[in-house]
Amino acid sequence: MTSTASPQIRAFPADAEAAASRAAPAAGAAPKISFVSLGCPKALVDSERILTHLRAEGYELARKHDGADLVIVNTCGFLDSAKAESLAAIGEAMAENGRVIVTGCMGAQPEEIREKYPALLAVTGPQAYESVLAAVHEAAPPAHDPFVDLVPPQGIKLTPRHYAYLKISEGCHNRCSFCIIPSLRGDLVSRPAADVLREAEKLVKAGVKELLVVSQDTSAYGLDIRYAESPWRDRQVRARFYDLTRELGELGAWVRLHYVYPYPHVDEVIPLMAEGKVLPYLDMPLQHASPSVLKRMRRPGNQERQLERIRSWRAACPDLAIRSTFIVGFPGETEAEFEELLEWLKEARLDRVGCFEFEPVAGAAANALGAPVPPEVKAERKRRFMETQNVIALRLQRAKVGRRMPIIVDAVEGGVARGRSKADAPEIDGTVHASFRRPVRVGDIVTVKIDRAEAYDLYGSVT
Ligand code: SF4
Repeated sequence: MTSTASPQIRAFPADAEAAASRAAPAAGAAPKISFVSLGCPKALVDSERILTHLRAEGYELARKHDGADLVIVNTCGFLDSAKAESLAAIGEAMAENGRVIVTGCMGAQPEEIREKYPALLAVTGPQAYESVLAAVHEAAPPAHDPFVDLVPPQGIKLTPRHYAYLKISEGCHNRCSFCIIPSLRGDLVSRPAADVLREAEKLVKAGVKELLVVSQDTSAYGLDIRYAESPWRDRQVRARFYDLTRELGELGAWVRLHYVYPYPHVDEVIPLMAEGKVLPYLDMPLQHASPSVLKRMRRPGNQERQLERIRSWRAACPDLAIRSTFIVGFPGETEAEFEELLEWLKEARLDRVGCFEFEPVAGAAANALGAPVPPEVKAERKRRFMETQNVIALRLQRAKVGRRMPIIVDAVEGGVARGRSKADAPEIDGTVHASFRRPVRVGDIVTVKIDRAEAYDLYGSVT
């Protein structure tokens, strides 16, 4: 799984709001669009692209639904809970504005949305930028004289200025039995390496300090285009996971790899991490550790010898932080299979772990693969899983007390800087809280001496 394990990241366009407040409200000027972005980082990237196009055409961004010319809701449809959240956001937009365009993953199932909200202006599916733009043009034609020069070259970012998600491909060529993303987003379509690198370079020039590489399956990058070469600077770069990672590592920003599956060639990027070219961080959603459950899940990547590989990665790169997500209560999961997972977890000692109870997403093959696990059993397994992980995480975190480490600052409030170490991705991992004496600004990378540790967060002072 990729983002599918964490589809509930909810991003209101904070930066867009700031842009809206900066834009001069000229009389009779461009139509105003209110935008809601739900779902995973990949959906956030889609939102950014739509907003960038609209701003390029002169549209303005509204702070509120009320008073905007129309509202766009970019939905997430992976889990039923995410669908419910999307439907609620659409309902809110209908109540407060009434002129609403829906896009994103849930837009691939328009009947379900139209049944509830028949008066929507348009419903378009994921990756359908043109359809969203066409619907906006029809409902609120762009102003005659677009403010093209208001668009920063790096586009509109919904993330804070100092980090940005970099989407390297769309879709997925896997067919995990619990997931309907391939039917929503289609098969893998990789961007040429030079295209990704140009975007990354623009972002870094615009002040981005951390690039978060996302896709549905990052280590499969380039497979669909046979790892084609494209011209970048004075050389040709192949659309291959290692080659792209190496080049990104040359841009002078932190590079964090998300949704990496344990294919054998992942071993190749570990030396880049050990050399400090990219962050020693792997977000590797494993979902389970019992071979029989993994088989029913139809997970990509050879899970055998996984522990051995993790050990060898750590030997080559001792600071490597591994994040993963797991599903408990998969149909037919027995107590023995669950205990296999717990034992694996104790051995693997992963740094960051998320756990989700299986949800039978409509249309997923998994629903018919075994008897449903009763809700109380799922909840109990999740509790035991997280208790086990908390003990591991606390031990790993305590080993950091006394160390000095670089922290990227995300917020400064009340004399405390809140940021992240190289082992912490935004939104999903822990926070480092640091007191400081000299001025510290958002986006700075400072050295912090760690004094105290909790299972997720660290505390210390800027040196
Ligand atoms: S099918 Fe693709 S998107 Fe879905 S969980 Fe598997 S790897 Fe992730």
